[in-house]
Amino acid sequence: MCIFCQIVKGEIPCNKVYENDEFLAFHDINPKAPIHILVIPKEHVEKFQDTTPEMMAKITPFIQEIAKTLELDKRGYRLIVNNGDDGGQEVMHLHFHILGGTKLTWPQLAPDESKKYL
Ligand code: 5GP
Ligand code: ZN
Repeated sequence: MCIFCQIVKGEIPCNKVYENDEFLAFHDINPKAPIHILVIPKEHVEKFQDTTPEMMAKITPFIQEIAKTLELDKRGYRLIVNNGDDGGQEVMHLHFHILGGTKLTWPQLAPDESKKYL
């Protein structure tokens, strides 16, 4: 069973922010910003490429509600999904990173070859 499924089952502890029947939000163990929350479906879905429009329709208001609760909605935040190998996904259970609490930087994420598309 994957590590996030174990968190859902309560076999591994997490610092929970909010949950409902279908989704769970908890603090990232290695935060990359003052606020760094992971939002996951309780059902094991491997990656964003496997999501359905139905799941996206339900997880969107869940994420928006968390942003409001943490007062991230006014100043802004970043939502990140790493999908698969090239996307840098390390835990193969779909998760949305909510990052905020400060003005975030926008670092170069790949070598300069990306400029060839300009
Ligand atoms: P990915 O690179 O797959 O998009 O991100 C995985 C994230 O999960 C990383 O930011 C990492 O710090 C976080 N993470 C990995 N294992 C655990 C854990 O056991 N508990 C929590 N709370 N976060 C974890
Ligand atoms: Zn899982």
